[in-house]
Amino acid sequence: MKTIGLIGGMSWESTATYYRLINEQVRDRRGGLHSAEIALRSLDFTRVVDLQKAGRWDEAGALLGEAGAGLARAGAACILICTNTMHLVAAPVAAMVGVPLIDIIDETARSLKLDGRRRPLLLATRYTMEHGFYTSRMAALDIEVMVPEAEDRQRVHNVIFDELCQGRICEEARADYGAIIARARRAGADSVILGCTEIGLLLDAGDLALPGYDSTTIHASAAVRFALDELESAAA
Ligand code: GLU
Repeated sequence: MKTIGLIGGMSWESTATYYRLINEQVRDRRGGLHSAEIALRSLDFTRVVDLQKAGRWDEAGALLGEAGAGLARAGAACILICTNTMHLVAAPVAAMVGVPLIDIIDETARSLKLDGRRRPLLLATRYTMEHGFYTSRMAALDIEVMVPEAEDRQRVHNVIFDELCQGRICEEARADYGAIIARARRAGADSVILGCTEIGLLLDAGDLALPGYDSTTIHASAAVRFALDELESAAA
């Protein structure tokens, strides 16, 4: 089994989910007392959030790239950036780590395409919904991502940073996300991407008004397939 390298802490709430999902899947596949070989570098999220707010993406890329290179030196055979937002700097990180980077956007696209989805709603941070890096990568893979209206984008973003990343799960947020998904369904969305690694803490992807694709679960599963030598080529 290969060692999975996780760049986590963004936030640690979702990194804990990655750790649990990866170990559960290895146990289910290998049985007995098997568990995953994992190297984890968990960052202080405030450092990353300050760079996001200042738009200092080059520095954020260097920070994550150094973390990933350290994981590779520690024996990781692949690297996961355990957040959708920070895939904005996936290219510079991949260039620094020297081992394969398992990309959350490619893997999510792959899952959508396997089910024939073409028009998913994206729920994510404002960076992910508005910067363009995510939607353009999906467009290149023939997936036309829909994003909520401006007011709804702000609400989704605030819930992520003010509640989910701080371990707070509120019914009001669940209801608001549900209403946003219902509106997108009426506007023609065929599915919904939980495109922030904490949203699965709030919503059950299997119990929504549209078919749900939880980026955390998809990403963790890809890592397990890589570790167990089962990963197919991404996305195409
Ligand atoms: N974990 C979140 C994501 O998947 C947000 C945290 C961050 O800004 O990195 O985008």
